[in-house]
Amino acid sequence: TQRSQPPHNIALLPPPSFLGHLIPFIELAKKLVFHHNCTITLILPDDGSSMKPQKSLLQGLPTSIYTVFLPPVSTNDLPENARAELLVSVRLTRSFPAVRDTLTSLKQSGTPAAALVVDLFAIDAIDIAKQFGIPAYLFHVIATYELSLSVLLPNLDESCTSEYSDMAEPITLPGSIVLTPEDLPESLKQRNSEVHKWALDWCNKFLEADGVMVNSFLELEIEAFKDLEQRCPGVPPVYPVGPLIRTGTEAESDRGAECVKWLNDQPPKSVLFVSFGSGGTLSVKQFNELASGLEMSGHRFLWVVRSPQENAADAYLNSQSIAKDPLDSLPEGFLERTKERGLVVASWAPQIQVLSHRATGGFLTHCGWNSILESTVFGVPLIAWPLCFEHKMNAVFLTDGLKGAIRVKENENGVVGREQISELVRRLMEGEEGNQIRNRMSDVKIAAGKCFEREGSSSKALAHVVEQWINWK
Ligand code: UDP
Repeated sequence: TQRSQPPHNIALLPPPSFLGHLIPFIELAKKLVFHHNCTITLILPDDGSSMKPQKSLLQGLPTSIYTVFLPPVSTNDLPENARAELLVSVRLTRSFPAVRDTLTSLKQSGTPAAALVVDLFAIDAIDIAKQFGIPAYLFHVIATYELSLSVLLPNLDESCTSEYSDMAEPITLPGSIVLTPEDLPESLKQRNSEVHKWALDWCNKFLEADGVMVNSFLELEIEAFKDLEQRCPGVPPVYPVGPLIRTGTEAESDRGAECVKWLNDQPPKSVLFVSFGSGGTLSVKQFNELASGLEMSGHRFLWVVRSPQENAADAYLNSQSIAKDPLDSLPEGFLERTKERGLVVASWAPQIQVLSHRATGGFLTHCGWNSILESTVFGVPLIAWPLCFEHKMNAVFLTDGLKGAIRVKENENGVVGREQISELVRRLMEGEEGNQIRNRMSDVKIAAGKCFEREGSSSKALAHVVEQWINWK
């Protein structure tokens, strides 16, 4: 820390949608304020909604984190079925003039930004930092091994003449991650799509960043960090600065209090937490299979229920507009039959409080990166149930790389059946396999706990980044 110097103002540019990106940005801001004598200007583009969940995340932040809300931009010209990734990145790009205005007014008011830290969806804002002569850093809020994939992709694109799914060899990434075509992120499934073009442009653009911070930790992805440093010339320095997980007092809200109160009455490590991230949804058929599978397993569960929708990726951007009460979608009599051992909550639970609770013994997760990090911090064994985006790759990482999860398998109709769900819950919660996974996650928890000690890997990496910003010429 540089207490003798005036604070440095760091500008952060998170995406407007995707709470899973905004949350780590806010936590990064807090770390920089509390431990590195920085002030923060959080530049928040508009996402076309009332931004209620975003605003509630911003409540109670220290005054040295100053939020600037940018004016709305129009995306009416985009096709109705435009993919979520494209929509978010277009919204951000159209907000760039307002980002420039913000940096200009910071300069004029005598608190110029000393660095601009951008989200992966705002990668082109690297150019804005360059115009202002300040360092441009990417804060990559997802896995490090995905950067290795980004380094590979332009070569794959050149060498592969058909779809990637037709390639003879699977794609191998550091950390024992072997990707079958089925596990590739959706953005790579169709070579001639807009979103594939976006992904390819991204791979070239991120190389222009002055540095990359990743919300991960050295011990979790050691092979990926080594690979990028030693075998990928031209890649900017990559710093592990995680696990940055949400800190706050959400359990004090009504819904939070209800979950925690219920957990307090359950035996240690007896409850399976079931949640599909900040916006993930299931189809009607899948939703019913899950309900039946949980019921059949006979185990205790805490399920965050969201109204079923046919397209999980689209639901992410629309989740605020679903007015229906999600509990209305549950099978007839389900609540009554499971009331002794199950609790369902509508739409949102205080996940950190749940995962850290002594009664929680497992987590059925959609494999979002934040959920994975949070599980490592609290040492919770997992059932991996990937939904969309890059979740299938994360499921491979969890099972084959980390060995911290059992993975569900869809049947020939693309559905995970109730028998399988019930069997996996039992294997995780009561079997020897579950014990092994639990022990593995306990070891990972110890490693995660050390990252932010004084000499911890992430403390040192973040201090190094701040030093680079301060000494930037
Ligand atoms: N989350 C939560 N309660 C919920 C659902 C999600 O607190 O009911 C939080 C969760 O703790 C995590 C984030 O929302 O920090 C979801 O991020 P993740 O990367 O796991 O998934 P995404 O929503 O981005 O797919």
